[in-house]
Amino acid sequence: MVTGKRDDMNATERPEDALRRYAGILVRLGRLHRPYRVYQECGHAHADGEDRGGVIDCGDFVTCEEGFLYSACRECCTDAGGQTEACADGHRHQIGGSICPTAAILDETP
Ligand SMILES: [Zn+2]
Ligand SMILES: [Zn+2]
Ligand SMILES: [Zn+2]
Repeated sequence: MVTGKRDDMNATERPEDALRRYAGILVRLGRLHRPYRVYQECGHAHADGEDRGGVIDCGDFVTCEEGFLYSACRECCTDAGGQTEACADGHRHQIGGSICPTAAILDETP
């Protein structure tokens, strides 16, 4: 059986070692699932020099903190091109909510 060796190892692992191992796993998960801030156009004329400070370049447009919509997850909701279509169309992100199901488990929120 392929899993036999692994099961035997876990059976002999001391509880404190297992806890330390789980803690390390959670830290790594948390590092992976970081917030990715999603903005819409704020409507200011930043490009024309009406600079209110904190201008954010989103590639297709520039915006600022007033255009902040919600935080998505870097790992789950973005690829090399930024926010994925699946996230933009299918996820229900909210300000103050967890960024993804994995983060919700880490945050211990429902
Ligand atoms: Zn603005
Ligand atoms: Zn995530
Ligand atoms: Zn998303």
